[in-house]
Formats: sequence, C-alpha cells, structure tokens
Amino acid sequence: MNSDQLLETVNTFWDNHITPTLTEYIKIPNKSPSFDPKWEENGHMKKVVDLAVKWTNEHKPRNSILSVKQTEKRTPIILVDIPGDIEGNILMYGHLDKQPEMEGWNKGMGPWIPVMKNGKLYGRGGADDGYALFSSILAINALREQNISLPRILILIEFCEESGSPDLPHYMNLYADIIKAPDLVVCLDSGAGDYRRFWTTTSLRGLIGATLKVEVLTEGVHSGGASGHVPSSFRIARQLLSRIENEKTGEVLLDELKTKIPDYRLKETEEFVSVLGNEVVEEFPWKETMKPSSSDNVEGVLRRTWRPALSVVGADGLPPSANAGNVLRPFTQLQLSMRIPPLVDPTKAQEAMRKALTKNPPYNAKVTLHIEEGASGWNAPETKPWLSKAMNKYSKIFFKEPSGSLCEGGTIPFMAMLGEQFPKAQFVITGVLGPGSNAHGPNEFLHIPYAKKLTACVASILSDFRAD
Ligand SMILES: [Zn+2]
Repeated sequence: MNSDQLLETVNTFWDNHITPTLTEYIKIPNKSPSFDPKWEENGHMKKVVDLAVKWTNEHKPRNSILSVKQTEKRTPIILVDIPGDIEGNILMYGHLDKQPEMEGWNKGMGPWIPVMKNGKLYGRGGADDGYALFSSILAINALREQNISLPRILILIEFCEESGSPDLPHYMNLYADIIKAPDLVVCLDSGAGDYRRFWTTTSLRGLIGATLKVEVLTEGVHSGGASGHVPSSFRIARQLLSRIENEKTGEVLLDELKTKIPDYRLKETEEFVSVLGNEVVEEFPWKETMKPSSSDNVEGVLRRTWRPALSVVGADGLPPSANAGNVLRPFTQLQLSMRIPPLVDPTKAQEAMRKALTKNPPYNAKVTLHIEEGASGWNAPETKPWLSKAMNKYSKIFFKEPSGSLCEGGTIPFMAMLGEQFPKAQFVITGVLGPGSNAHGPNEFLHIPYAKKLTACVASILSDFRAD
C-alpha cells in the first residue's frame, strides 16, 4: 500500500465529498429519541436517512449492498455490506442521531448552524458521530483504489445511540445472519487524548439514567406561611442524594457501583498522564479559579474513567429564577446521570440505587424513582500483536508519533453488547473527540485535519487485517 497516495485520496475526498455533506448534516436537528419523543412526526431522522442514503448510493464501494432496516415504532439502522476477497469479517460502527442543543454556544454559532473556523467544523453531531459513515466508506474506497485485498466489511449505522441504543439488541437478533460474528470491530465514536497521534479506547464507562421525584404537597403554598413547618422537597432530594454520593468529595458511596481497577489499566492511565501531562486538566473549560476534584492527575483521570460519578443533568418543578415567586413548591424532580465503571453489573447497580434512594424517605415524603434501562461499561480484550503493531506503525506514518491508548469516561452501549456476544472479536475504538471538541456540550467541533489522518490510519489498519 502506498501511504502517500492513500493520504492524498483521503484528503481530496474529505474536501470534496465529506465536509460539504457534514455541513448539511449539522443543519438537521436530528435529536435522539430520548430528547425528541416526537421524532417520527418531526421527520428530522427521515431527512438524515435520506441524506445518508443518497450520499452512500453515490459513493459506496462497487458490489456493495446498501439497506435501511426499520421495524415499526423503532429507529432505523443503515447497513452497507461490502463483500471481501479474503477470509474474515469486519464490523464498522457509527451513529447518526444527536445530543440536544445545550446552552453556551459562542456568538454566531449554534447547534444547527455549521461554521468552519481554523479547520474546525462547528455544530452538533459532526464529530459525534456524523463523520463515521462517510469516513468508513472513504477508507474502503481508498484501499480498493490500490487493489488491496480486504475481508467482508459491514458498516452499521444506528439512530438511537444517544438514547442508550435501545433498538440495537432487537436488530442484532433480527439480522444476526447479516451481522455475523465479527473478527474485528471498528468504532469511530470515541475520544482522542490529543490531535497529535492515533488513539484507541481500551475501556468505557456504563450509564444509568434515572428520574428522582420528591413530592411533599398537592399544590404550592405561600413560603412565608409554610416553610420550616413543611419540609422542602429540595432539601429532601439533597438528603436522598447524600445517601449515594459524598457531597464533599463526589465519591459514590454504593459498593455495587464500584470496581477493582485492573493493574494494567492503572499502568496505562499513568502512561497516558505522562504523555499528556497537565493537558489532562487543561482540556476542560474551567471557570476562573475553579480546581479539579483531585490535584493528582492520575487519580483525576481515574475518577472520570474507572470510578462511578453522579451528575444532576436536569430538573423539573423549579421555575426559572426570574419568574420564581416565594412559594414552597409541591415537588422537586431531578434527572440523574450515573456513570458506572467497566465490569460493574448495571442491574445490580440499579437495584442498589433504588434501595438507597427510596427506602424510608425523610418525613415519609412521596419519593418515586424511574430508572431507564442501564448500559454496561466495557473493558477491551487483549489486543492481538498484528493489530497493536498496525496501530502504532500507521500512527507513526501519518502523525509522526506512536499511537496512544486511553480509558474513556463515556458510554457506547453497542461495544458492551458486542464484547459480550463476541468475546473473540478484536476492537479498534477510536474517534475525533479530542480536547475542546466538546461533544454533548456547546461549541462541538470536528477537527478536520485530524479526521483526515484518522481516516488514513483506519484504512491502513484494515489493510493489515488478519483473521486468525
Ligand atoms: Zn457518539
């Protein structure tokens, strides 16, 4: 394989056919079903499917089969089945649903407004994970152009990843004969420690979403007449949260949500921190004098990758402060997002949360907890020598630096499903979500020069594929 020619093909194709399509893609507010319950009616998902199908039909590799599968009441999946000429089976994965808007976009920018600035394409969903389908097809075409032999490759694109992939197990079952047992899974939906090398993800956290509602009255009353005598629903919610989290340190208190971190992951994290130094702190947009939860950078990274952590991501029952009367409110509802480490059983973790939050509520308040189906974390199996060699070799060729590996704090539910179902599969979990790219937050961007080199690396790794 000629690396220079490959990179040139990749660069030109990105400029001519991927960046313009992603620019159109960003304009479509295709929020994941959890954030757009009327997604079918609203039709944004249909628009994205149409855009993806039209593009894929124009550019798909020769002899490949494109299909859109959709069971009633479920989000669709797109499959591109590319026959191979050597033995083996590769599964490439990405998703085309998006996170909601979020506040805090810079002036002139917004989630559905594509803006190109200094080689970065701003807007929701370009980096997470709009580019995956297009970049996968490009990688295969660039290899075919050089007559490189490849195994059969299946590209699978889903539309409910940001909702925890609830429809995927259904399709995995229904199309098991198409999906088959992959020898290698390539996932383009993950993070990068910096933009200077090829990164792979070796572990992911799981996720439990839950809605906690505390009710104290049937209607709001004058706070002057009631407060003090009638306990506040907010205070009770605080008390309940303190049962599962130490509010001083952020440590999650339930044993069912903790795991023993394997020694090799501790070592890997130490190495990660030694490569990136203080960048592991500086990557976050700290406000003024704000400090991290730990001054030890290794511990800091472990806290966001291998330890559980609670975030309150939404609330109901609280009017905006500008419109808040002096009322003792009837209820407080909090949306909880609990990240759980790899190797933790989400069912046991959920039960532990339920018990802690709902048992013997203060003042006998009415406490309800609705828990969404939990997603498991994932810990990579040992990487085979050909694969780690290939990742390192091509990182050196395209980035002039050896590859790096990292543990990720986010969740990709499908990886846990695949890991469980296909324990012999190898994984390349990579992505463009490097420092500042801010997927899920405001000012999300896709670092185009990085995405191009990443595409070249992924293609090259495929060219070294070995089925053994
Ligand atoms: Zn994603």
